[in-house]
Amino acid sequence: MGEAKEITILVVDDDPDMRRLLEVRLPQLGYSVTTASSGDEAISLIWQVNPQIVLLDQEMPGSDGLNSFLDIRNTWPDLPVVMCTGHGSIELVRVFMLKGGQDFIQKPILDLETLDFRLRKVLRDFEKERKAREELIAAREKVDAEAFKSMILASISHELRTPLNHLMGFSQMLAAGVEQPVEISQKIIEAADRLSGLVDKIMAAATLEGNPVISVLSLPDLIQELIVYFEWQIKTKGLILKTDVPALSVSADYRKLRKVLSNLIENAIKFTESGGAIKISAFGDGVRMVISVADSGIGIAEKDLKGIFERFGKVDHKTGERPGMGMGLYAAKKLVDLMGGKLDVTSEPGKGSIFTVTL
Ligand code: ADP
Repeated sequence: MGEAKEITILVVDDDPDMRRLLEVRLPQLGYSVTTASSGDEAISLIWQVNPQIVLLDQEMPGSDGLNSFLDIRNTWPDLPVVMCTGHGSIELVRVFMLKGGQDFIQKPILDLETLDFRLRKVLRDFEKERKAREELIAAREKVDAEAFKSMILASISHELRTPLNHLMGFSQMLAAGVEQPVEISQKIIEAADRLSGLVDKIMAAATLEGNPVISVLSLPDLIQELIVYFEWQIKTKGLILKTDVPALSVSADYRKLRKVLSNLIENAIKFTESGGAIKISAFGDGVRMVISVADSGIGIAEKDLKGIFERFGKVDHKTGERPGMGMGLYAAKKLVDLMGGKLDVTSEPGKGSIFTVTL
């Protein structure tokens, strides 16, 4: 019989009798059942009910079981899927298992107890694998953290030295009584400004750890706050700012989300020429919230896209713009990951970039 804790299962089958049978029998074995009659319906239901396991029929009109499975795997790499079919071919099983399917059950399903046993075994094995994977990642991150520390120390000393040297040199010139004190003071202010920006970035990278403090935030308020913060920079650079942010709330860590969006807006300003536009938009469907920062700037070549989220990942756009440390997007991605979301980018050189945060 079923264990005490209810298992949420999504049954995907075009046969209404089969759906009905499982809808009636599986709850008696400790399952909470949701059903879908097609692969497309299954995808939208996964967003809504967040099942622990999917039981997927192979023979369906439209997108068949295997194709639906591939779609599911793409978006939910950690969702166990069991396929059932009346005409299982070795080739189908091979592809399904190779692509990360968990188990394969022959139809007709006559014995519900056996089905229950197989589903629970899949869930147990899956949980074991997940734990092992997490331990491996934690171990790897620990080693990584050591390497990261030495990299950051090397980078910090290199990055800080230039503005520090400027500060020293120009201050000495000022002290010696140069002819253009205003110009020299300006250089000192620039160097101090750059130092301060670097310190901010280093501090942000150092405080990436820490569990998110989730609260319900008003999205328009947060965006308005950021606009006020960046208004001056946007105006001075001659950029047009557009917003399309509905009056929605979002469950997120205020400081982390603010940092992510401010990194994205800062980049959009930096990599868009005067006269260009930046658009901040958002939409929510009750399950997800998607916030995007789009610019009509210089864009990023396809080959460079993957690297920009890496530590110290930067692209030399050859615009004469002083390259940064390549920490901003790395930090943004880390923070979005910590909130359980996704940070994506699409970009076209010469046309612009769209960065999207999905929470
Ligand atoms: P940094 O911390 O140095 O500012 P980021 O990690 O924020 O760097 O960005 C990494 C690289 O990605 C940048 O060097 C830049 O080349 C590229 N990039 C980021 N945002 C944009 C954008 N909106 N348009 C074009 N290139 C961008």
